[in-house]
Amino acid sequence: MDALFDIVIVGGGLVGASLACRLKNANFKIALVEGQSPAEDLYEWDQRIYAISRGSKRYLEEAGAWQKMDFSRCQPVSKMDISGDTSGNLVFDAANAQLSELAVILESRHLQGAIWNALPTSERFELVQPARPVSVSYHSHYAELLLDNGRTLNTKLIVGADGARSWVRQQVQTQAGRSDQPIPYRQKGVVANFNTEKPHHGVAWQWFQADGSILAWLPLSGNRMSMVWSAQDELADELCALSAEDLAARVEVAGGKLLGKLTPITPAAGFPLRALVLPNLVGRRMALVGDAAHLVHPLAGQGVNLGFQDAKDLANILLSSPSVDCGSPSLLQRYERNRRFDILAMDGVTKNLHRLFNAQGSAPKWIRNIGMTITNKAPLIKEALIRHALG
Ligand SMILES: Cc1cc2nc3c(=O)[nH]c(=O)nc-3n(C[C@H](O)[C@H](O)[C@H](O)COP(=O)(O)OP(=O)(O)OC[C@H]3O[C@@H](n4cnc5c(N)ncnc54)[C@H](O)[C@@H]3O)c2cc1C
Repeated sequence: MDALFDIVIVGGGLVGASLACRLKNANFKIALVEGQSPAEDLYEWDQRIYAISRGSKRYLEEAGAWQKMDFSRCQPVSKMDISGDTSGNLVFDAANAQLSELAVILESRHLQGAIWNALPTSERFELVQPARPVSVSYHSHYAELLLDNGRTLNTKLIVGADGARSWVRQQVQTQAGRSDQPIPYRQKGVVANFNTEKPHHGVAWQWFQADGSILAWLPLSGNRMSMVWSAQDELADELCALSAEDLAARVEVAGGKLLGKLTPITPAAGFPLRALVLPNLVGRRMALVGDAAHLVHPLAGQGVNLGFQDAKDLANILLSSPSVDCGSPSLLQRYERNRRFDILAMDGVTKNLHRLFNAQGSAPKWIRNIGMTITNKAPLIKEALIRHALG
């Protein structure tokens, strides 16, 4: 028989690769199977930006990846200023909560590079790239994963970290006799980066617009910012079709010219937005993490943070039971139980906010704006919201 792995992680994105890093000091034999070749041009600005919560930052420190970041490309958020479509306003201030920052804004590609630089180097770790699984079969004490490069990996546990179109999720679903599919919001997240005329002072802004779209300006290091405009497909397509200069002018006006003149750094890119919550996160010798396990609207900027929390919980369970079979039903069920509440809560918050801000008519308009203003005046609720968002 070929060598037996304890864990095969399918998908070397942010979540899957971070899990391999987090487990590197334990005695597990691990393979990371990634479908794509390594990314290049790390020094070009990436339009894909994340607000990394303090909980995720701690996890990435434990995984040894945070230390590999280029901090000159990271921007702490000191304040979040959220506006409704009429008078509603909600402000979260790090200083008021005695925190050094609310989150750190950074580029996806840079974080990915840092995580990959922290991957294990021991002989108990193997990176299999580029390769994708094509089938799985089971023996009494392990699963056998056949890859498209002809290789077979025998393993006690398969972790599906293969993103929104996960192959591993399909296997888990088939085993459970289900076929849940992501539900499109019929919206795209349009992202682009800009130089700003005025300094942002570490403030992130978000506007819930009257047309149901949500515009976010996230501060980047220096006089730069990144926008995420979650908009109905028609508006999103219109924004993506604009020249970089016309888009900058449009974004400038939509944000009330708060940062003066904007000049483009990157062209716009649009990502279709979908929602997915699964009843089951585990299957036979399989566990799902990250976007393979759930898809949430980016309005709360929590997708990857939720994924890092999955990886952290799964790692903690595996590390706390080193002598137990990694794919045993008891461990997998523990993981599923641990994650259920967080995932359902985040899904509920994002879906309800999305519904509330898309509802037409004066009553929903009044409720959403007055709700923000009341929350803004309730320090205990605000503190609870901050603590939850910080992870
Ligand atoms: C517009 C937009 C803005 C967002 N903004 C934020 C934000 O501000 N904050 C936030 O927390 N989240 C945000 N998100 C969500 C975030 O992008 C995802 O949650 C995150 O990328 C998920 O990471 P992952 O590692 O699970 O999946 P991915 O990053 O998709 O990685 C999956 C990996 O698996 C590989 N793969 C895929 N299939 C296979 C296969 N069959 N075999 C082998 N390898 C495979 C892929 O090549 C990839 O490397 C946003 C999303 C969108 C669309």
